[in-house]
Amino acid sequence: MKAKTHFEVVTHSPAETLEFGRQLAGEIQAPCVVLLEGDLGSGKTTLTKGLISGLGLAREDEVTSPSFTLVHEYGREQKAYHVDLYRIEGARELATLGLDEVFSQPAIVIIEWGERLEGKIPGPYLKIKMEYLASEDRKITVEYR
Ligand code: ADP
Ligand code: MG
Repeated sequence: MKAKTHFEVVTHSPAETLEFGRQLAGEIQAPCVVLLEGDLGSGKTTLTKGLISGLGLAREDEVTSPSFTLVHEYGREQKAYHVDLYRIEGARELATLGLDEVFSQPAIVIIEWGERLEGKIPGPYLKIKMEYLASEDRKITVEYR
């Protein structure tokens, strides 16, 4: 992903968001942090299924929301982590997740509710904002910063 990457797309179904995730997977290389921002139901988990399956690390049906376990790990040599910060409140709870350990690895780290980490990511990251437009329409803004 280039430093000035900044674009948006509109998808019209969950399948299109999955496909967009698969395509985007071809553009990213570890180490890479992906912050996913947007309300509940905006499609963050759906996009993550596309990303992780597109990276070839799991089938899309094996990628489930880490709402309770908070961090899911995929892959062996090449690793991806899928983190959900929805239930995390405050810096102390955040510290219990062991994200420093995750960030120290040459992995792809995908974080739902990533707005909670903005300003705390050590290097460059991909910020993906998802917005609900209509029942099946989502605007996806991708920015590399
Ligand atoms: P989040 O992780 O942001 O809460 P999910 O991916 O779990 O969102 O859920 C998105 C919901 O919206 C799913 O029920 C999905 O079927 C639905 N949906 C409808 N249209 C789209 C779309 N274009 N892209 C992604 N999800 C969509
Ligand atoms: Mg989710």
